[in-house]
Amino acid sequence: MRIDILTIFPNMFEPVLAESILGRARNAEIVEIIATNIRDYTDNKHNKVDDRPFGGGPGMVMSCQPIWDAVHDVESNDPRPAKRILMTPQGRPMTQSIVEDLAREPRLLILAGRYEGVDERVVEQLNPLELSMGDFVLSGGELPALALIDAVVRLLPGALGHEESALQDSFSKRVEDGDQRLLDCPHYTRPRVWNELEVPEILTNGDHAAIAKWRQEQRIQRTMERRPDLWSEESNG
Ligand code: SAH
Repeated sequence: MRIDILTIFPNMFEPVLAESILGRARNAEIVEIIATNIRDYTDNKHNKVDDRPFGGGPGMVMSCQPIWDAVHDVESNDPRPAKRILMTPQGRPMTQSIVEDLAREPRLLILAGRYEGVDERVVEQLNPLELSMGDFVLSGGELPALALIDAVVRLLPGALGHEESALQDSFSKRVEDGDQRLLDCPHYTRPRVWNELEVPEILTNGDHAAIAKWRQEQRIQRTMERRPDLWSEESNG
């Protein structure tokens, strides 16, 4: 997979992309990630990427021209078609289901906004998938872009150490759960007693069938308690 990011802060990406699972996936050439500076595409002599909003009011708006030219130039660098994504608080809230769909694309192109956002005309013309990290406002699209990249890359075959481990996580689609996406079960490690608190007995007796049953009960109970919005009666009778 290839992932391009268009941003006016390309330096924000490398420190995060170099570490841990993302760093290993890049070294193993499971994914190629390239951050491009929108500012390199301005056709004005001051390299301005923004301007004052028509109609007045505070803040600045990202101009159409540099974004339009950057998208087309970056897309022409590789024959694979790019799925265009705009990070915006007005987009669809990101979910594991959306992340799974994006992990099947050969190429993503993620546009990170700044200031008050991007001129609406270039959004209409580029027609990207608009994605939100949640109902709150950040100062730029770079952190949501990194969150999306992390969520996508860890699903790519070979990115995680154990092929199985993504399937245990919250919201993952597991055959035994049907259409229901569940929260993960609680986890424990050594020591067996800490601050006089003991690990649940069932996890320590080596009965794998009983452990699997307990974990599944925990997943269901947690989802019902913590995320009744995720729990569907239809899937579970
Ligand atoms: N005026 C806009 C917010 C602009 S915030 C509004 O109220 O809708 C500046 C940039 O940060 C946005 O263009 C977007 O790229 C990014 N951003 C802020 N919050 C975000 C969120 N919750 N999800 C995704 N991107 C976000």
